[in-house]
Amino acid sequence: MPGLAIPPNTTRFRLVNARVPICLVADASRLTTDADGLAPCDIVIDNGRIAAIGPSGENDGLESFDLDHGIVLPRLVDVHTHIDKGHIWHRAQNPNGTHLGARTAVMADRDVNWSAEDVAKRMDFALRCAFAHGTGALRTHIDSYPKQTPISWPVFAEMREEWKGRIALQAVALFPMDRAVTDEAEFRQTVATVAKHGGILGGLTFLGEAPSPKTDAMLDKVFAAAIANGLDLDFHVDESHLPEARSLLQIAEAALRHKFKGNIVAGHCCSLALADDAERAAIIVKVAEAGIAVVSLPMCNMYLQDRTSGRTPRWRGAAPLHELDAAGVTVMVASDNTRDPFYAYGDLDLIEVYREATRILHFDHSDRPWLKTIATTPGEVMRLPHGRMAVGAPAGMIITRARTMNELLSRPQNDRVVLCAGKQVDRTPPDYRELDI
Ligand SMILES: [Zn+2]
Repeated sequence: MPGLAIPPNTTRFRLVNARVPICLVADASRLTTDADGLAPCDIVIDNGRIAAIGPSGENDGLESFDLDHGIVLPRLVDVHTHIDKGHIWHRAQNPNGTHLGARTAVMADRDVNWSAEDVAKRMDFALRCAFAHGTGALRTHIDSYPKQTPISWPVFAEMREEWKGRIALQAVALFPMDRAVTDEAEFRQTVATVAKHGGILGGLTFLGEAPSPKTDAMLDKVFAAAIANGLDLDFHVDESHLPEARSLLQIAEAALRHKFKGNIVAGHCCSLALADDAERAAIIVKVAEAGIAVVSLPMCNMYLQDRTSGRTPRWRGAAPLHELDAAGVTVMVASDNTRDPFYAYGDLDLIEVYREATRILHFDHSDRPWLKTIATTPGEVMRLPHGRMAVGAPAGMIITRARTMNELLSRPQNDRVVLCAGKQVDRTPPDYRELDI
């Protein structure tokens, strides 16, 4: 560093003068931290695995690479993405930047263009972006509609195999949850597909309606199916400013009613930020009791929420993560959509997501270990060892020139180096021109 280049045939080496965030290290007992929660250390890598993380200065004659106090992160974990619909912006744009505009544009494109070949090509493109930026595990939602389910899920299964060892992949079925009661045969087919592919059951819980017994009925169907098949759950929840958007409370009550033992993730939860203090606090208590993890998608929410042509947005659209965290709820941030009608931008770069989340959600000026929201925490929610640095674990890491959190978050870290299993990877993202054909 600068221009760190680890020869491909170097399998045992020492990274000296590194700094690691203590909250992302499995055993930090030998390390001491600074005000940013960063610990100076050396990292020994042996045959693709981390052999030691210890105080700087130990010298055993290994080939060394001096990081000059640069921050080292584990490869990161993106718990909420949509790689089946990403990178369609060149042919399916959002006409007005609204949620309705997004749904309409995606539906039209999906009906015409989402062949297995098209889905595979865009998924692979998205994964190459994520890999180049240093993502080690990724969960995607998959639009699961009658015509699309048999196309997208087998493509996902192929991708999961192809990317094994580089990015650990998980998939969630996404569909309007009223289908669970309005079309039982279709719902059974969706559940069978998810179970067959070792996926996660999900659904879109707020479709503009106020809380009602109908929502409870569809949640009962989904929870019962998850229990019967041993599936985890991951919902799209209350992605709206409307006061009627309160399905998070109903999900929590359903989890408690069914005594659900699996993991539950609730994505978005935008409207919770606009509830009055007493109502928000009461919902959060239930969410904590039900053990639901909340993931905020701040970049996508800022894009879609509070958008009216000619009027400047007044709120940020993101879930109240500080209040949830303070109540003991597991919280995370993630990418969500990339270059599709739900979010026009993005590149599955979790450093960007964290940088933006810091500004949007005020992760700064806080003593909470927010870095965990893109690393250890989603790793645990996904039941994976990813997102932490541990002796014996694969040496997947992001090496930066930044020495402080301020330096890390002030620039895009385009000069970062990514190691996967101890090998430096090509950080060139795929060329958009590939998508032209
Ligand atoms: Zn989403």
